[in-house]
Amino acid sequence: MKNRVDLTVNDIKQYYYCPRIVYFNHIMPVDKKPTYKMEHGQVMEDEIIRLETRRKFKKYNLDEGERLFCLWMASEKIGLSGKLDMLIMSSHGYFPVDFKYSTGPPQKNHHYQLGGYALLVEEKFGVEVNQGFVYLIPQKDIAVFSLTETLKSDILSTLDEIRTMIKKEQMPQAVRLKNKCRDCEFRNYCGDVL
Ligand code: SF4
Repeated sequence: MKNRVDLTVNDIKQYYYCPRIVYFNHIMPVDKKPTYKMEHGQVMEDEIIRLETRRKFKKYNLDEGERLFCLWMASEKIGLSGKLDMLIMSSHGYFPVDFKYSTGPPQKNHHYQLGGYALLVEEKFGVEVNQGFVYLIPQKDIAVFSLTETLKSDILSTLDEIRTMIKKEQMPQAVRLKNKCRDCEFRNYCGDVL
């Protein structure tokens, strides 16, 4: 019987936003209504895919490449899976791209999310991934992220941390930045942040 908790790249993103969200998702999942941002983001992502297929690679600072959209990947080795919005494959390297419906700049959790995808791309295609992009949908802008070996090693340690938290059912501390709680779907479960 398998003993390891399988995790997703989304778990990594959420953990760096607020570890409690990952705790709730795994220990006591609740029915969640899609938020306006989620629904709106999906429509915009469909539009981005339509436009991306016609665009050149100049805005990624590349002169050529191929795109794969909505790429599902899973690694038995590290117990991680996830669906990547877009992968650029070029002679200059492989680049994960995440489409984000957010008016603010990308944060640490988005950087680590890209790092999680990098680990999956590396295993699936047998390549080294050193850079990734976040496509900010409202601004039609691109943020570039360096995906270092240190970052990838941090992510592997984080996966272990998350598994320990889930197995021991240890509810982590609430986030210190309480504005993160404002639109959180688990707000009603966090009596100490209200
Ligand atoms: S309400 Fe705040 S502390 Fe609780 S899970 Fe959401 S973001 Fe984390």
